[in-house]
Amino acid sequence: MPHHLKNITFTIIVTLALLVPSGAGAAQVVKELAEGVFMVKVGDFPYTSLVVVGDDGVLITDPAFTPRAQALKKTIATITDKPVTRIVLSHEHYDHVGGTEVFPDAEIVCHRNCRSVFALDVLGRVPKKVDVVFDNFLSFDFGGKTVHLYHYGPADGAGSSVLFLPVERIAFTADLYESRGLTPGKWMDDDNSLAILRVLQELNRKNLTHAVNAHSTSTSVRDLEENLAFVEDLFNLVFGEIQDAMQSGGPMAVMQNMERWPNELKLPQYADWHGYDEHLPSHIRRMALSIFHGG
Ligand SMILES: [Zn+2]
Repeated sequence: MPHHLKNITFTIIVTLALLVPSGAGAAQVVKELAEGVFMVKVGDFPYTSLVVVGDDGVLITDPAFTPRAQALKKTIATITDKPVTRIVLSHEHYDHVGGTEVFPDAEIVCHRNCRSVFALDVLGRVPKKVDVVFDNFLSFDFGGKTVHLYHYGPADGAGSSVLFLPVERIAFTADLYESRGLTPGKWMDDDNSLAILRVLQELNRKNLTHAVNAHSTSTSVRDLEENLAFVEDLFNLVFGEIQDAMQSGGPMAVMQNMERWPNELKLPQYADWHGYDEHLPSHIRRMALSIFHGG
């Protein structure tokens, strides 16, 4: 371990807000969440990566795209002199998986379903290859740190996965929830609300110390807990309507009613969350389709 890393005090959060020379007002945020485990945001890019420093190399999540990956590499060099040797992609969406070429020594890990979606890329945004794939679970030792990857279903995309450090009890997810807000409907076309519910339920059982979220510098576990309550309430509301319709008229009645539920059903206890008025209809529609249609 480089001596400057040893000297970083291990507290719940060490925040170093440093100005990056390039980019007006661009700031990087580095939080040490546990010994050798960091949440890093660079520049103006609205993405965060988990950075795990192992004995011989560094693991990162979601470099996003090339300019961000280059900035991330510079920031990692201020934490450790070890190279990035493993990149875990949270899911296949193209805005999360670019820039891997900036780390030529790294093996790339993604859920098995990433490959078939990467094969459809026509803009050249995806990695040229995926080195390691998994189905429902993968566990590996990364230079003294145990890493678990779970696939709980197609939560956001077919290759949606969760990274979990079982010793530190830190999780990394992408695009599954916001802080007291509703994910914009335009990004939810391939979300499965039941898989999101399952991810949040499973993570809620793990007694997390930090829940790192790919688009937020908050690592608050409370954000996750509040969103679990929201998705459970959404499920109960929509499932109740679908059950009533099934009993009264079978699947045809569900299909007749599905169009009106997004505009009629409400969850007023979340009315103060950002995006509630605009995006609740999309969340109701996705939940109804996930329950009735499978996606
Ligand atoms: Zn996504």
